Amino acid sequence: MKIALIAHDGKKADMVHFLSGFKDQLNHANIELVATGTTGSHIERAGFKVQRLLSGPLGGDAQIASMAAQKELEMVIFFRDPLDKHPHEPDVQMLMRICDVHNIPLATNPAAASLMFQQLTTRL
Ligand code: PGA
Repeated sequence: MKIALIAHDGKKADMVHFLSGFKDQLNHANIELVATGTTGSHIERAGFKVQRLLSGPLGGDAQIASMAAQKELEMVIFFRDPLDKHPHEPDVQMLMRICDVHNIPLATNPAAASLMFQQLTTRL
């Protein structure tokens, strides 16, 4: 199963912290991680294997939306920073819309992501 990870700059540390809490589950062979470029480099530095796409503002969010539309993703974890402005806000909205169109689980904060992740990993 493939899980997409995106974190705005103010939330990248939260993403690494969140993933560290699920290290054992994430090392399971059945889980593949894919992330936008800069988020992916933070995740890699924390010791996880991750497929890195373009940076979000350069099209990474759109790439993840494309994967969601093609039903390639089990879940999208997108830690948005609600206190900052983003030049690629249209892409952010598009990604969330595509998740809703295709009924892909989407978590936008660590509390929701934890609940979803716990549920998902019971299936491993
Ligand atoms: P980034 O993109 O991981 O390349 O920073 C995330 C985003 O802002 O959408």
